[in-house]
Amino acid sequence: MMSINWFPGHMHKARKEIAKVMDEIDVVIEVLDARLPVSSENPMISQLGKGTPVIKLLNKSDLADPVRTQEWVDYYNSLPDTRAIMIDYKQKKLISSIPNLCNELVPSRSNNGRQVRAMIMGIPNVGKSTMINALLGKKIAKVGNEPAVTKGQKRFLLKNGMALSDTPGMLWPKIEDRDSGYRLAASGAIKNTAIEFQQVAEYAAEFLCQDYPELMVARYKLKKIPENADELLKEIGRKRGGLRAGGKIDMHKASEILLNELRGGQIGLVTYETVSEWLEKWEQQRIE
Ligand code: GDP
Repeated sequence: MMSINWFPGHMHKARKEIAKVMDEIDVVIEVLDARLPVSSENPMISQLGKGTPVIKLLNKSDLADPVRTQEWVDYYNSLPDTRAIMIDYKQKKLISSIPNLCNELVPSRSNNGRQVRAMIMGIPNVGKSTMINALLGKKIAKVGNEPAVTKGQKRFLLKNGMALSDTPGMLWPKIEDRDSGYRLAASGAIKNTAIEFQQVAEYAAEFLCQDYPELMVARYKLKKIPENADELLKEIGRKRGGLRAGGKIDMHKASEILLNELRGGQIGLVTYETVSEWLEKWEQQRIE
C-alpha cells in the first residue's frame, strides 16, 4: 500500500525519547491537521502522555470544512483533560492565548507560581515550527539543552514564563488503514511517489464526488455532478489538462491538477474525516 516511513527503528527511538521527557512535561500541545484529525495523529502521543493534559490544535483550519472542524472540537472537548481549538497560522491573537490555556489546564502549578512546562508534538509538516515561531514572539530566551532534555531538543522560555519544548525526534503518522494513508497523501502530509500519484488522485476524486460534489461543479464548471472519480478526472482532463495525441485524455495531468488544487485550497474548504465515521470505526474495533 502506501510507502510510509514508519521504520520500527525510528519508532523505538522516538518512544524512548518521549518517555524520557514526558515526566517533566505538564501539558502537551498536540498539533493536528484539521482536515484529518485522526489520521494526522501519532498514537504514541496519547499513549505516553496518559494523564498529561493536552491541548489539541486543529491546525490549518483555513483549509478545512468549518462545520466538520467544529464537530471535532466539540468531540475532543468532551474528553477528560483535553482542550481543543481550531486554529491556523494567521490567527495571531488566538495563538498568543495558548500559553494561558496551558496554565488553565494545570492550575496546581500555575497557581503556585511554578513554571508550566509544555511540549509541542505532531507529525512532520503539520505546522509545528510555524506555531513555535508564532508563540515565541520577540523577547524570548533559549533555555538550551538541560540534562533531561534530549540532545538537540530545543527548549524556549515564553513571555508568560512558560517553558516550551519541541518534539524530540520525528513522530510519523501511524497508518492504520487504507483511508488514513490516502488522506495523508491527498492532503500533502506525505510526499508524492511516482507510482501512487494517480491512485491518490483517484481516491481524492472519489471522496470529493461523494462529500463535496458542489465544490467540484463550481471549480471545474461542470454541467452536472460527476458520478464517480473516473468521470470527474476525465472532465478535468478534458477542460484543463489538454489532450494528448489521438485525442486521448491526459489522466496524469488531470490528477496533478486535482491534487495541487485540493492541497492548495483552491477547490474550497475540505475535511476528509468526520467524528461520526471514526466513532463507528472505534466501536467496530472495540467489538472485534
Ligand atoms: P512542521 O514540520 O510540523 O514543523 O511544519 P511547518 O511549520 O514547517 O509547516 C509545514 C507547512 O505547512 C509550511 O509550508 C507552512 O507554511 C504550512 N502551514 C503551517 N501552518 C499552516 C496553517 O495554519 N495553514 C496553512 N494553510 N498552512 C500552514
